[in-house]
Order: sequence, then structure tokens, then C-alpha cells
Amino acid sequence: MSMRVGFGYDSHRLVEGRPLMLGGIDVPHHLGSLGHSDADVLLHALCDALLGALALGDIGSHFPDTDPAYKGADSRKLLAAVVKLINDKGWNVGNVDCTVVLERPKLRPHIDGMRTVIAELLGVALDAVSVKATTNEKMGFAGREEGVCAYAVALLERE
Ligand code: MG
Repeated sequence: MSMRVGFGYDSHRLVEGRPLMLGGIDVPHHLGSLGHSDADVLLHALCDALLGALALGDIGSHFPDTDPAYKGADSRKLLAAVVKLINDKGWNVGNVDCTVVLERPKLRPHIDGMRTVIAELLGVALDAVSVKATTNEKMGFAGREEGVCAYAVALLERE
């Protein structure tokens, strides 16, 4: 069996009047992420981890934010397209591990919902999807609630 590992990172500004989409879940909050698509940092970091594992570039090269086709895009569809790309090359997802950095609100009530969405999109069991959340102890852009960011690693496998 061959294995590949990939890493992804993404960040978006937090503003009023936008939904806070994280892992395909609309998290109730007075601030949401600003972006061309639905600005789901967690799914974007995951896309980059999967693409990175096969050195296939990044999410921006596959879904340019200058392309009107991706305005308001549902990031679940972007992730599904990335999964299809890696599956077509003969690779499957082994497991993924992600961390979201967000000062507020607490994400614990939404974590299992995010894991369920992601597991379905990746075609893996729920226990192959880890989503963790942390505050940034009020430090930096995440700590000042100017933005939200996410990190992800993914293991890909091929027989
Ligand atoms: Mg993004």
C-alpha cells in the first residue's frame, strides 16, 4: 500500500451579515466568514490538504475566486470535486485531522455534525474524521475575532 500525507491551511475575515459556515454546518453567530464562496475555512483547509497530498496545487488554482461560477459556492461541492479528483487518480482518503481556531462561539455542540458531513463527503467512516476546535487565548487575529482559521492534515492511501 502507498500512502501520501497532505497539509492545508485557510483563514477568512469575520464580518456581520454573513453566515459562519464551518465543516458544512451553519453555526449560529452574529459574525460570519467573508469570502467569494461560502467561505468555509474548515472545508477549504481540507481541500488543500487533499490536493497537497498529491501535489495537485491548491484550492485557488482549481476554483479561482475570480470565477463568477464560484461566487457563493457551497464548499461541500468544492470538497466533493476534490475527492472525485483524487479518487479518479486511484487514491482514497485514509483519515483526516483538523483544527479550527475561533474565539467564539464554542464549537463543541457542532463538532459531530461537521464530522458527519465531512465523513460523507470523503467516503470514510466517522472515526476517520477528527475535528478539533480551540480559541487563540485572545491573541492575534483569531483572538481579536477579526477572523477564523483552520488547519488540516489528510492521509491518502492507494493499494
Ligand atoms: Mg478559503
